[in-house]
Amino acid sequence: MGIDLMQEWSENAKTQKEENKAFLKTLLPLPKLKILPTLLKAHTEVFEAIDCLKCANCCRTSPAIVIKSDINRLAKHFNQSPKQFIRQHVLTDINGDMVLNGVPCSFLNDDNTCAVYEIRPDACRRYPHTDEADFGSRPALNLANTIVCPAAYHIVNLLKSQLSSNDI
Ligand code: SF4
Ligand code: SF4
Repeated sequence: MGIDLMQEWSENAKTQKEENKAFLKTLLPLPKLKILPTLLKAHTEVFEAIDCLKCANCCRTSPAIVIKSDINRLAKHFNQSPKQFIRQHVLTDINGDMVLNGVPCSFLNDDNTCAVYEIRPDACRRYPHTDEADFGSRPALNLANTIVCPAAYHIVNLLKSQLSSNDI
């Protein structure tokens, strides 16, 4: 990732939190498809400039949610039963969600690659959810992601600058 983008995120994400919170709330009432083209353009632009392998902050700080199909797939990969996999790798968080139990994630390699990349949990594949049609309906999650994920932060900033006042 460009050092300037990383630096800008680390210097500004927390101080911009209230501004971003207010902006993300303005997306809530909008029809899903209204912001999607601008969102997808911002997502593509930012991920072209960011190298996740030089970051891995999500894998380092945020336990990934796992669902039954993730557990079955991962367990099969390790020749374990789902129960054995859960015992070794999964816990239930304060929201009642099943999450991978390591922080940093126990599947994160030293070079920031993922040891189970091809079969990683769906939540990891989708993170930071900035190319999804219902982005606008999740202001709290999107705000939290701007603090964890430099890409999410820059995508929200691009959205702010590119959505015209007629859009919101
Ligand atoms: S499973 Fe892979 S992508 Fe998901 S948090 Fe762990 S290291 Fe990151
Ligand atoms: S926190 Fe965001 S930019 Fe960093 S590795 Fe995860 S998805 Fe990529």
